[in-house]
Amino acid sequence: MNQHVVPTYRERDKASVLHPQTNLLKHLETGPTVITHGDGVYVTDDAGNRYLDSGAGLWCAALGYQNERVARVAHDAMTQLAYFPIFRHQSHGPAIDLSEKLLEIAPVPMSKVLLQCSGSEANDSAVKIVWYYWHGLGKPERRKIITRTGSYHGSTCVTISMTGNPAYHKSFGLPFDGFIHVDSLNYYRSAKPGETEEQFSQRLADSLEATILREGPETVAAFWADPVQGNAGALPPPKGYFEKIQAVLKKYDILFVADEVICGFGRTGEMWGSQVYDLKPDLLVCAKGLSAALLPISALLINEKIFRVMTEESNRIGAFVHGFTYAGHPVACAVALEVLKIYEEMDIVSRVKSLEPAFLGMLDSLKDHPLVGDATGVGLIGGLEIVADKATRKSFGPEVNISGLIEKHARKAGIILRITPGRIAYSPPLIITEDEIAEMGRLTRMALDGAWADVQAASA
Ligand code: PMP
Repeated sequence: MNQHVVPTYRERDKASVLHPQTNLLKHLETGPTVITHGDGVYVTDDAGNRYLDSGAGLWCAALGYQNERVARVAHDAMTQLAYFPIFRHQSHGPAIDLSEKLLEIAPVPMSKVLLQCSGSEANDSAVKIVWYYWHGLGKPERRKIITRTGSYHGSTCVTISMTGNPAYHKSFGLPFDGFIHVDSLNYYRSAKPGETEEQFSQRLADSLEATILREGPETVAAFWADPVQGNAGALPPPKGYFEKIQAVLKKYDILFVADEVICGFGRTGEMWGSQVYDLKPDLLVCAKGLSAALLPISALLINEKIFRVMTEESNRIGAFVHGFTYAGHPVACAVALEVLKIYEEMDIVSRVKSLEPAFLGMLDSLKDHPLVGDATGVGLIGGLEIVADKATRKSFGPEVNISGLIEKHARKAGIILRITPGRIAYSPPLIITEDEIAEMGRLTRMALDGAWADVQAASA
């Protein structure tokens, strides 16, 4: 008798796939959840379990998980010109069309677009361009990059150095020198008793100024910020924050880079997070929603002030010596253009604005749960503060593994929740309906109830 057993996907995965952002030892025990297909805001695994995806994958699948129309566009692009580089004075229609479109919809006047494949690449390139700019102006000593605690800007060596989360630096000998992290902007967790949001924002701006003065303004190149901090748990800024921060940057002639990787393309109820908070960036980085994750693509927009210096510097040294093989990939550009057309047809900004009350109402309705201390959001992005004690706002210790408990019960309930330290972060696909938002609330409550029951059982 043939005893040969065909290994399952789970076994084959464990034997072959190295998973990002995963406990590798635990993975060898548990194996993966293998997702086989998607429909709308739901995905289904190989055991037939269906989950509402409250995070649009990694904040990116704005149009859900299949798209016939965009597939046809990708097919046509691939059968016309599947690839050609845009290095050394070469170009093609899709890269030109997409760059024009991005300049047309940019939140502030921008001059040129650098097309790449990921948010990390775009942020990494932006750091190089910031350095190039200051070199071009004869101030190469302006090198330091300031970001905020709680931010995430990518996983390359430089962008993870920018990322304001020590958990991502441990065991890698990072961050590199010259990447400075200023205070967390979590009002709920970090404000002093009695401090208003405006006062808290002023304290953060004062602290940024003190940091700049300590480092020496003549050594600071740029300040980076994502309008809503994704990695900190989809955390909107406190009132008045960006106005005060931008005033400090202006005072010391420091470049401002908006990381719109999560917030771009309607997520916040405006086309850009920069429009919600009146940001005036010199450079703007976007990805994710740009193609709704249907193909990998990102873009870096720079203003005329930066471009003018770059042209002179590139002429002085011979070229702008920077570039990735797949920059401006024609199929990815064609896909992004079609996605932007779909957003226009859907009137994505009005759609998100009209769903915002239901979404924020859903988050608010969970504040009566013993595990939920606060709820904040804007557009279709927001989060819940998870607390061990509402009165003191105390967090759970690591021994409780509250994230693991909530995640376990979320999967049982049929929802994928993204749990960051202390917060559950939501950024559902922008095609979500009001009924599905209500369902997201019901399933979250089931997950929280399950976790709360476990916490109580463990402490009984
Ligand atoms: N910036 C922000 C704000 C992000 O959230 C991310 C990814 N989550 C990145 C940059 C990096 O993008 P990527 O994973 O495409 O490299």
